[in-house]
Amino acid sequence: MKAIALTTITYPIVETFHSIQGEGVWMGVNAFFIRLAGCDVHCPWCDQKESWPVQPYPQQSLEALGEAAKRANPAIVIITGGEPLMHNLDPLTAQLRGLGLRVHLETSGSHPFSGQFDWVTFSPKPFKLPHESIYPQVDELKVVITSQEDLQWAEHQAAQVPLKTIKYLQPEWNTPESQQLIFDYVLHHPDWRISLQVHKFLGVS
Ligand code: SF4
Repeated sequence: MKAIALTTITYPIVETFHSIQGEGVWMGVNAFFIRLAGCDVHCPWCDQKESWPVQPYPQQSLEALGEAAKRANPAIVIITGGEPLMHNLDPLTAQLRGLGLRVHLETSGSHPFSGQFDWVTFSPKPFKLPHESIYPQVDELKVVITSQEDLQWAEHQAAQVPLKTIKYLQPEWNTPESQQLIFDYVLHHPDWRISLQVHKFLGVS
């Protein structure tokens, strides 16, 4: 079998950084982030708008990304964006897992699924509907809430993920009224939990 030429496969990278996972089940865990460039979902409240274009971000090789992740010695590697599923994630996850790293994905699911993951966080957005291939892969559902209508959207998405999925509602950071909305909802719907963006409270990336 022909070996993959690691230097010839590249991804457009907004940034890589070592921090903690700020949200959801793995909140507080030591994590190395790989933020891929490109997103065509265009949520109006997005806090990563700089990641929407693929240009002008530099391409980094599989080898370089693997080395950087391994050097950080994280508990988990999180592939995020942008919308990471705009890219074929099979080579990147094979590289990282081949180095013995635990690999997680954060996605809106708006493009066909690729890659092999130890954990998939699915954050669907009504601005571009999820591709059907995401639903069987989901470990954690996290829906950002700005309004009552978003709660209905959350239930519609929850009906399509595996039963084992852990379900979170997360207040939109710049919509303070969403906090009360979620609090009240979770008190009446015990199958949901609240996720907060702890990294923003700590003032870290
Ligand atoms: S899917 Fe994520 S990166 Fe894309 S616009 Fe929405 S919040 Fe921003």
